[in-house]
Parts: sequence; structure tokens; C-alpha cells
Amino acid sequence: MLGLMMDEPLLVASLLRHADRYHGDTEIVSRTAEGPIHRYTYRQAHERTRRLANALTRLGVKPGDRVGTLAWNGFRHFELYFAVSGMGSVIHTINPRLFPDQIAYIAGHAEDAYVCFDITFAPLVEKMAAACKVVKGWIAMTDRAHMPAARIPNLLCYEELLAAESDGFDWPTFDENTASGLCYTSGTTGNPKGVLFSHRSTVLHACVITMPDATDLSSRSSILPIVPMFHVNAWGIPYAAPLVGAKLVFPGPGLDGASLYELFETEKVNRSSGVPTVWLGILHHMKQHNLRFSTLEKVVIGGAACPPAMIRTLNEDYGIRVQHGWGMTEMSPIGTINSPKLKHDALAPQERFELSLKQGRPVFGVDMKIVDGEGKELPRDGKAFGDLLVKGPWIVREYFRGEGGNPLRPGGWFPTGDVGTIDPDGYLQITDRSKDVIKSGGEWISSIDLENIAMGHPGVMEAAVIGVRHPKWDERPLLVVVKKAGALLTREELLAFYEGKVAKWWLPDDVVFVEQLPHTATGKLSKLTLREQFKDYALPTAAASAIPRDPARA
Ligand code: AMP
Repeated sequence: MLGLMMDEPLLVASLLRHADRYHGDTEIVSRTAEGPIHRYTYRQAHERTRRLANALTRLGVKPGDRVGTLAWNGFRHFELYFAVSGMGSVIHTINPRLFPDQIAYIAGHAEDAYVCFDITFAPLVEKMAAACKVVKGWIAMTDRAHMPAARIPNLLCYEELLAAESDGFDWPTFDENTASGLCYTSGTTGNPKGVLFSHRSTVLHACVITMPDATDLSSRSSILPIVPMFHVNAWGIPYAAPLVGAKLVFPGPGLDGASLYELFETEKVNRSSGVPTVWLGILHHMKQHNLRFSTLEKVVIGGAACPPAMIRTLNEDYGIRVQHGWGMTEMSPIGTINSPKLKHDALAPQERFELSLKQGRPVFGVDMKIVDGEGKELPRDGKAFGDLLVKGPWIVREYFRGEGGNPLRPGGWFPTGDVGTIDPDGYLQITDRSKDVIKSGGEWISSIDLENIAMGHPGVMEAAVIGVRHPKWDERPLLVVVKKAGALLTREELLAFYEGKVAKWWLPDDVVFVEQLPHTATGKLSKLTLREQFKDYALPTAAASAIPRDPARA
């Protein structure tokens, strides 16, 4: 027997329509690529989004067509999110930090009909436009006065397109399983693969991430998503904010500590989210200028393991509650967020701190398990670690155009490529990417654990640990460190810092100091580049255990 409730599809446009009707005067504030701060309301955003839908229709954009973006977090990008998906087309957010030929590959693979770009990226567009044969036109997201002088074919002006249209546009109703957005994975190996979100997955994900144990977003929030809208939809915040009527503060290109801090304060921001690297910049700026937060309460940090030292500093020195989160593009992206349960109030402060370091519990909708090499489920005891598999309504079933074949394991589980533990309360702890795990004498060493310890040393700015070939142990850990300015840190001091914190056989075999570490386009440490850089590195321990050769032949 079927239920007798209305069959209203879950559609992205309904989020903005709701915000217009019930939170019409709530603000959206943006630092723009042109410089000034722009502010308007959900009502005005909705009105302009309808004009934009008319403009795109006039340009010939049809349901199902892809419209690319190369843009910062800002009001025009927000309008594109809703206009493109709302009219039944697919918003394809492109990461401008990728190499131009990677971008050209992605735009070609997605067959973007148009690409909209912030003026910052005009030189990039000029370089790659010729290689993007499928793109019919390039829309500069600015007004006539700020149009780039770059030589770009079929260049259009966003504000002129809007000015020519009326705001009379009715959002169509269609199947909620229709595609709404497309985002390519970082693709550390092989070509990037497209993850195609649906209206249903996007709306469900938005509902769940607003919950108190997740981002705790409401009409009383002022949220500044630092995580880019070109990287997994800024973790879903541009959809979740209108759903609850939260004030949105977009940082635009100003991702340095000073610019972010200024917006936190002037816009009374109380929620934020970003990868550890940006928080490093903010903390650095605040320490240097002896600053405090006056309204910020909670931040979600994820995308890469958040160093314990960062959680402690934000919490103890600045009174900010850090919620460690984990997810991936293939998961829209939220999988787990760390929030303590009621019973954890009884924990001693150190135990509570240790719990907060984990990547958190799954939000409703996400199920997960860890398995061994044969696919056998491992115990949820917080100790056994294995390959992490996930399932849920906002998790990829297949990549765009079937790229890479069927990614799922038996039973419909998606292998995340991460390795971790799950404790009896369901808290996940990521110990590594499966390809970053260091395999020493048949046992696994967690590179994340070793990095976190190094990051706890006051002289360390950033640390990475990779496995380097070793004649006896197969692989041994090498610690690569960027020192803080002026820090007088030695190899011996750092190695001594590990004593008592990990088993002896986990200790890095050597330490190398570098000026900077390589990062991927999404701001994560590029272990691939690092491994390549150090592939011939001779560990001091290697010589001693090299298989002795006959001196007469050596
Ligand atoms: P992306 O698809 O670019 O968002 O990358 C997803 C990957 O980032 C995950 O599979 C993890 O390897 C890594 N990641 C995300 N969040 C965390 C976290 N909190 N701790 C450790 N790794 C993380």
C-alpha cells in the first residue's frame, strides 16, 4: 500500500524560493573579485537568479546542458548555482587551481555549453579558451566597467545579460533524480572523474548537514564558508544556508588570514568551515596582531586531517569549538562530523580532547564499515583498521560517462580509498589514504598520526610523512618539515619529540627540512609529488641493512 502524501519532488530551486519567502530580508554578503564588499538579501538574490535563468535560456541553454564556473565564493556564483540547476541544467564547478590543460580536459569531457568566470581568472580563460572547442561562450561575472581586456572568444558580460531580462521565470518541476551539479575529483592518478549530483541528493544532503550534531546551522547563524564553491559545493553550505535562512558571508578571493578575520568580525560570523591550511593562516594572523574573535563559536575543519595542535589552540586559546569532519567529492561531500554525545560529558578533559581528534560519526543517511584485504568486515572496536566503505543516498553510484567502470564493491558499497578505525560509538578515525599508508615489515604505520605529532611541536609550521623504500623493511617513514620562521629546530630534537608518543618502530627514520611542501589544487598535501621528489632518498638506516655484496663484485 502506498502512502497518501503529496509527491513533491526535492528540487534545488525550492531552497532559494523558501529563503525568499520566509527569510527574504536575510543578507548575503560577498567580498568581490572586483574589490568592494557587496551585500543584498535572499529576496534580491532570488529575483536576480530568475533573470539569470531567463538569460541562460535566451543563450540556448537547455535542460541537461552543463554550464561551467571558474569562480570564487560570491553572490554571482550563488546565483548560478540556483539558476542553472533550477532550470534543469547542470552546474559544473571547475577548480581554477588545476593546470590549464586539466581544466580544458574537464570542460571538454563535461561538454560545457558556457563557462562563467570571475575576472581574476581572465588570464587563465585566455590561455585555455582555444582548447575548449565545445564551449559556445565565456561569461565574465562582472559589469561592463570591469570587463577584462583579455582576448577571449565569444566573451559576454554577466551583468548585461541580467539587465536585459525580466524576473518572470517559473521554476519548472521535474524528477528529483535529475542531475543538478557536476564536480570532478582531484584525480591524483589518471584523468579526473566527474561526480554527478542530483536534486534529490543535494537537497537531502543540505537538510542533514544543518542538524545540531553536524554544522548546527539555523536562521540565527551567520556562516562564512571558506571552503570553495568550486570544491564539492563548499561542502553543501550554499544549499543548506537558504534552507534554514542563515546569513551567508562569502570571502571571494580574500582567503588570507587578514581578509578572513576582517569579515568574521564585521559580519558577526558565528559558523565557518574550511581545510586546516586556511585556519593556519588565520591563526598566524591573529597571533601576530594579538586579536580575538568576538562572535565566532563553531567551525568545521576537514578535507584533510586537522592537526590536534590546531584543535587545541582554537579551543583553548580562542574559545572556538572545532568539529572535525570527513567526506569526499563522491559523498557530496559530508560523511562524518565530530560531535560529542551526552554521555561524553562525563569524560575527563584529556579524553574529551582525544575524542574530538577523530573524524566523527556518520550523519543520518551515511552508513560505513571497515574491511580487510579480502573484504571481510573488521570489528568496530576503535583499534582494527581497514579499508573504509560507505553507502548512502548522496554517495556516487557511477562516475559521469561511466568513467572507470563500476566503482562499487559487492553489496553496493563505495570504497573510499581511505583507511581508518571505527569505535563502538561509531566515531571514525582516518589513519591514512590507502596509498599513503607506510608498509614497514608487513605492518602498517599511519602517516597522519606521525604528521599530527610533528605539528604539535612549537617549531613546526607544516609536516608530511611518506614511506621511502628500505632494503630490509620495504618502506620506512621519512618526515619532511617546514619550520616556523626563526625556529631553530634540529633533526635530533624532532625525533626525540616522538619518544613516548608512538611505538619505537613507528619513529621516522630521518627528517628533512624544506622551504615548502607541495599541495594539490584542493589544498591537500600532495604526497604523490613528495614521494616522487624523495623516491631515491637514501635513508641513513638503509645503508646499515643493505644486503652485503661480495666486495670483489660490488
Ligand atoms: P576530496 O574529494 O578532494 O574532497 O578528497 C577527499 C579525501 O580527503 C578523503 O577521501 C580523505 O582522504 C581526505 N579527507 C577529507 N577529510 C579528511 C579528514 N578530516 N581527515 C583526513 N583525511 C580527510
